[in-house]
Amino acid sequence: MINYFKAIIVGLWSVVVGLAITMKYFLAQKYTMQYPEERWTMPERFRGQVKCNASNCISCMYCVNICPVSCIKLENVKSELPVKVTTKEGKEMNRIKDVTNFEINVATCIYCGLCAEGCPTGAIDMSHDYEIACYSRKNMVYQWADKK
Ligand code: SF4
Ligand code: SF4
Repeated sequence: MINYFKAIIVGLWSVVVGLAITMKYFLAQKYTMQYPEERWTMPERFRGQVKCNASNCISCMYCVNICPVSCIKLENVKSELPVKVTTKEGKEMNRIKDVTNFEINVATCIYCGLCAEGCPTGAIDMSHDYEIACYSRKNMVYQWADKK
């Protein structure tokens, strides 16, 4: 008889202990993220997908020449009229060439950030976009243009 009540008390106690542990984690800070409904806010200096604002590009070819894996291609034509663009330092300068094709192959890009760091106008930039998986290599070539 004593063993019977002892077993009931032990059983109830184990339920109380189990619920206490559940409540502890229920009220604690959550670390699980409900992706894709929730997303990380990337750190300011995170280097994600390289993006280009072709209308701000002065075709200086710095990025094309500095890229260690040669994944940038740039084609341009002479502008009919010079266009004013602003440099990173806030100075105005004339853009005398229009970009007809600015291409980055992200399949070979190593996200080193050298292109974005030295671009005088900030036309090329490392974005915070990290969802760049795709099913075809062809889709890994990103293109921009100011003029077709
Ligand atoms: S991040 Fe580096 S590898 Fe990628 S395009 Fe720029 S220079 Fe090239
Ligand atoms: S470094 Fe900047 S301005 Fe020069 S070609 Fe590249 S994107 Fe254009």
